[in-house]
Amino acid sequence: MIDKSQLPTVAGEYRFNAKINNWFDLKGKAEILFRPKNIEDLIYFLQNISPEINIQIIGAGSNVIIADEGVKGILIKLPASFSEIKHEEDFINIGSASLCVNVAQYCKNFGLGGLEFLSGIPGSIGGAIAMNAGCYGGEVSQNLISATAIDYNGNFYEIKNQDFGFFYRGNKLAKKYIFIDGKFKINKSNSQEVANKILELQKNREISQPIRAKTGGSTFKNPLNNKAWELIDAIGFRGKSIGDAQISQKHCNFLINNGNASAQDLITLGEEARKKVFKKFKINLEWEIKILK
Ligand SMILES: Cc1cc2nc3c(=O)[nH]c(=O)nc-3n(C[C@H](O)[C@H](O)[C@H](O)COP(=O)(O)OP(=O)(O)OC[C@H]3O[C@@H](n4cnc5c(N)ncnc54)[C@H](O)[C@@H]3O)c2cc1C
Repeated sequence: MIDKSQLPTVAGEYRFNAKINNWFDLKGKAEILFRPKNIEDLIYFLQNISPEINIQIIGAGSNVIIADEGVKGILIKLPASFSEIKHEEDFINIGSASLCVNVAQYCKNFGLGGLEFLSGIPGSIGGAIAMNAGCYGGEVSQNLISATAIDYNGNFYEIKNQDFGFFYRGNKLAKKYIFIDGKFKINKSNSQEVANKILELQKNREISQPIRAKTGGSTFKNPLNNKAWELIDAIGFRGKSIGDAQISQKHCNFLINNGNASAQDLITLGEEARKKVFKKFKINLEWEIKILK
């Protein structure tokens, strides 16, 4: 339990036993949710909080399972003041709290090409950098030039793409840094062309994914030369459920909460699928979804 006297006096806001917005709609609470007012406030907080306290960051909560017992320590959530978007000739600077869908909309308005793939990712730019999010051939690592970041001691960095160590759905730095904004390259295009690409991507997604369900997106990373959904389908788990947790009928790599699923129901179901896939194919499915506790 954190004592209030351990908390630095900040300009932002601490919320105690706070609700955590997440796409699965799980009810686990944050012991303390911290919303810094601005970057100086975040740096001050990190420089003055005890290193003994567990500190984590959440974006839009679209790729996480929140543990039923909640998140211990302090969970940082960057507010709207971290969501500025601006562009010049061939690059765009995007604050971490910007939602990917809003970035795609901005690109559509200004006729900027190259980031259309973000239109279908329901997370924030900070989360997209951390997860190296991507779809339909586009991926953050292909477009990111550099990002500004702060480590958990409050030191500020500018990190170039090649120093991230990007890999499929992740990078080597995400656990050590809070990403503040990203500078991405863009191509000359026009609003109609960008709008057409976004529409096409949205149509594909609508057909193949349960995008209106309470879900966390892809549950497992695709193993080399395999598709996670095909392996899960092959063990007969399409539609399988534990309580209100279910493997989507529409897309076997999506777990969904049909109402009152607990985090444990979702994890148990995912683990059962992993075990069966391993038994049948000797392939180890790796969780893409992060478990926050
Ligand atoms: C319906 C649906 C469809 C999806 N489709 C796709 C898809 O096509 N492609 C794809 O790649 N993903 C997809 N996802 C997964 C998810 O949207 C992405 O992984 C997204 O990038 C996560 O962003 P977030 O802000 O929600 O991060 P969160 O889920 O909040 O967090 C994910 C991880 O990122 C870390 N993180 C968040 N913000 C920061 C930050 N500022 N600095 C450092 N670390 C941070 C968190 O600590 C956590 O470890 C989908 C999800 C859903 C629900």
